[in-house]
Amino acid sequence: MDCIFCKIVNKEIPSEIVYEDDKIVAFKDISPAAPTHILFIPKKHVDSVNFLNDEHIDLVGEIFLRIKEVAKELKIADEGYRIVNNCGDLGGQTVNHLHFHLIGGRQMQWPPG
Ligand code: AMP
Ligand code: ZN
Repeated sequence: MDCIFCKIVNKEIPSEIVYEDDKIVAFKDISPAAPTHILFIPKKHVDSVNFLNDEHIDLVGEIFLRIKEVAKELKIADEGYRIVNNCGDLGGQTVNHLHFHLIGGRQMQWPPG
């Protein structure tokens, strides 16, 4: 499978990793949409939210806790930030390996484009 985020997990292509454990990696988005833009992914490949099942409940919960902690470390927790998941074509997903964007450091707008 030719998945760019699996290659990041396997260190086959470089990335700026800001957090890593046995199940999760977080790295800087290569094309940041804001001063802070980090992607959180499971190490084990999952295509998208559409492919989540009961076995992923703890994993997704852990990802959100890690997002919270990294946001605090990067000192954007108090001012606020946005967590984004794009699912499928109309959702704007361009990399088919489940990921959650942590975006912060500027005022967000609503609704998103
Ligand atoms: P999405 O559009 O939700 O699928 O988000 C994919 C994100 O991955 C985009 O924000 C891209 O800028 C980012 N991206 C793509 N390739 C890389 C890479 N090699 N390293 C870091 N971020 C990447
Ligand atoms: Zn993958």
